[in-house]
Amino acid sequence: DASFLHRKTTLHERLLGGLLVHGFDQESCHSRYQSAVYRRNPGRKPSQYLVSKLRRQEALQRRCGPGTAAYANALEQLKSGKSVASPECRYVVSISYRGLGNRIISTASGFLYAMLTDRVFLVDPSTSMDELFCEPFPGTSWLVPPGFPLWYQGFYLSTPERYGKMREDGVLRTDAVNGSAATGELPAFAYIHLDHNQTDHDKLFFCDDDQRLLSNIQWLIIRSDGYIAPGLFLVEAFQEELHRLFPERDAVFHHLGRYLFHPTNRVWGLITRYYDAHFAWAQRVVGIQVRVPWSESPEVLKQIKTCTQNERLLPAVLGEEDEEPLVKTTAPRRGGRGRARPTAVLITSLKAWFYDNMKGMYWERATANGEVVVFDQPSHEEVQRYGVKSHEHKAWAEMYLLSMADALVTSGESTFGYVAQGLSGMRPWVLDMGMANSTVGWPCGRDMSMEPCYHVPPTYGCKRREDAVLPHVRHCKDWPTGLKIV
Ligand code: GDP
Repeated sequence: DASFLHRKTTLHERLLGGLLVHGFDQESCHSRYQSAVYRRNPGRKPSQYLVSKLRRQEALQRRCGPGTAAYANALEQLKSGKSVASPECRYVVSISYRGLGNRIISTASGFLYAMLTDRVFLVDPSTSMDELFCEPFPGTSWLVPPGFPLWYQGFYLSTPERYGKMREDGVLRTDAVNGSAATGELPAFAYIHLDHNQTDHDKLFFCDDDQRLLSNIQWLIIRSDGYIAPGLFLVEAFQEELHRLFPERDAVFHHLGRYLFHPTNRVWGLITRYYDAHFAWAQRVVGIQVRVPWSESPEVLKQIKTCTQNERLLPAVLGEEDEEPLVKTTAPRRGGRGRARPTAVLITSLKAWFYDNMKGMYWERATANGEVVVFDQPSHEEVQRYGVKSHEHKAWAEMYLLSMADALVTSGESTFGYVAQGLSGMRPWVLDMGMANSTVGWPCGRDMSMEPCYHVPPTYGCKRREDAVLPHVRHCKDWPTGLKIV
């Protein structure tokens, strides 16, 4: 009986409450139409304003994207080196890099910036973007096509067009832009450097005056491996629009992630085969993401056990001397044969040791309440690898599977976990990685929100030298200098 395998859904639900637009070729990207059928937790509803903004953004992408006359004109302008006064279309090119979690949260928040500034959003295709994700916008492509006139992959601190450098050297000045200073004197593009080694001048990106200046530059190339959205909330000019787009502020990544990142058919195959084999029959699914540098660690194992049992995510196991409890064979009757269906636990990790031990413990010992707990780990790749297709496919599939669980335990500081929690729509229990090597006093705590943490935000406000926090943009628990939306 497959009826309990998948949820019955309406088309509106499959389109995530209007977040997604109908009219894509279903064969080219199964996940776009099927994800809601597999998700046990339907997630938050997008605001009508976000839905209509996305439709306008899609129209902009079609009107100005690669292959259009407007795009060809904009490339000519780029080659000329100067910005025009009122260009037909303006662009953000996003260079996301490092691990997959980093790339996903950086892309999502770069897209938010493009929406806030009415720019076309294009992504650097060199980091497997096309391998992992379907095209998000109908009738156009978000990939920068071959033959782009700038070799932006090489852009870094020493790039002369780096925004922070041009501001520092006085090549660009915010006081000159509102007056008569001709836009023709502005460069055709600026490179926004938002890596961990950004300077204070690079961080001016998050200031109102600088955003006014930047709005006159036709092309912005942004390099970031992090979630810049909390920084955008600090820009006063964006605040009202952000409030209208996200009346539930903690669901920014949740909606943008579900809008943008549809696994390609190959990755969707990994996800659905796993789901049908391991999740479909389960009473409950618990996801545990273990991201530690060690192959094995009894301290972390103890931490996982204490966390999941104290927080009642998993039942306690009996000691060796305890008597085996009588297995109840009458109620509850959900499994059909008078037995409760088991709880499935998905462990993701680069190493197999934690899984082996957890699985062994729940096989060798009975649980106090008679609940049967089944563990599985889809892969153990041993080391993080870059640019290896099968490795990236598995990483994406595992993040996605974690997001399909009913409860989630993540490792602090990890962007891999941030993606899973954001897509799921749940606040996770976070394993405190700083504690891992000492005695476990505080094994895990519930996160403040499901939003990712921005690890390297602007530290001070733009006008006054005070800590840049707002009531709904706070320091992260797992990364105290970071900022997150709550
Ligand atoms: P972060 O380093 O924890 O912030 O997460 P990232 O996703 O940015 O980078 C870690 C990378 O290591 C992933 O993208 C994967 O390539 C690999 N990796 C880490 N943990 C896992 C895991 O549990 N499963 C798989 N398949 N890969 C992992």
